[in-house]
Amino acid sequence: MPNNELGTAMSNKHRQSLSDDELLRYSRQILLQGWDIEAQERLKASRVLIVGAGGLGCPAAETLARAGVGHMYIIDDDVVEASNLQRQTLFTPEDIGQCKAQTAQQALQKINPFITVKYSSQRLSAANARAILQSAQMLEATTGPLANSPNPNSSSKPNDTGQCLLVDCSDNFAVRELLNGLSVHHNLPLLSASAIAMTGQLALYEPYKNSGCYHCVFGSAIARQGQDDTPLSAGLEEAPSQNCANSGVLASTTTVMGNLQANLALQFLGLGHNPLHGQLLIWQGSSMTQNLLRYRQDKACPICALPKLPN
Ligand SMILES: [Zn+2]
Repeated sequence: MPNNELGTAMSNKHRQSLSDDELLRYSRQILLQGWDIEAQERLKASRVLIVGAGGLGCPAAETLARAGVGHMYIIDDDVVEASNLQRQTLFTPEDIGQCKAQTAQQALQKINPFITVKYSSQRLSAANARAILQSAQMLEATTGPLANSPNPNSSSKPNDTGQCLLVDCSDNFAVRELLNGLSVHHNLPLLSASAIAMTGQLALYEPYKNSGCYHCVFGSAIARQGQDDTPLSAGLEEAPSQNCANSGVLASTTTVMGNLQANLALQFLGLGHNPLHGQLLIWQGSSMTQNLLRYRQDKACPICALPKLPN
């Protein structure tokens, strides 16, 4: 067993045993070098909250469902439109006009009846965020001494959050900033991706490691963009005003990025690995190249670095 050390660190309560039918279904994954039954059992015990059931959310959710992530929760307030069908892989023409979150939930549950998929057709907001996190069981695991600690300076990982993951598949900066705030406040890892035209970005932020958050990386660029039309000099992010609706996106861009997101999620949830620690992945579809950019915590970041004022 290659993961004895991890297995000790992540106790039995992080695993759920597999039936014979599940062992058969996941057999090709369990055969993988570096993977094993314990990793698969950790996936079964895992909980993911997927925000957005669009171009990123469809492929990411489908791969996580097929791979055996046991508890999934999808939130999206949109309905399926004809222009979505080019890239949003869980939908068919018959679904036009239907709620995306519910349609995705039904498709995922059909793909894998061994997992639990729930949904909300609300838009994630500051007002409903806590209720959504509770419904998605994101807060249940954070029952240790650092549970729900708003202390941004905590240097160690909460003892139980290894099985929870916020998956940002949204298409706008307001939701990403909200998710980032929730990630930092509740010490929850945030896997954030974006895709536009023929390029995409991906990062997995772990606020309990003081290694930087989404705002550390993109906050100044967002603020600058809000003041004028200056292009983002770092080339790290599309302009906040850009989205797939006004800038276009190749069908493969979102599918690639959604599956890169799933690739990282599976390693993180199954093995406790974050191969992108402190790095932002930039994928350029036009040149078929991929680059990693290092980032650090911004010591003046109002989200993850500066002490919070008491409420
Ligand atoms: Zn930060």
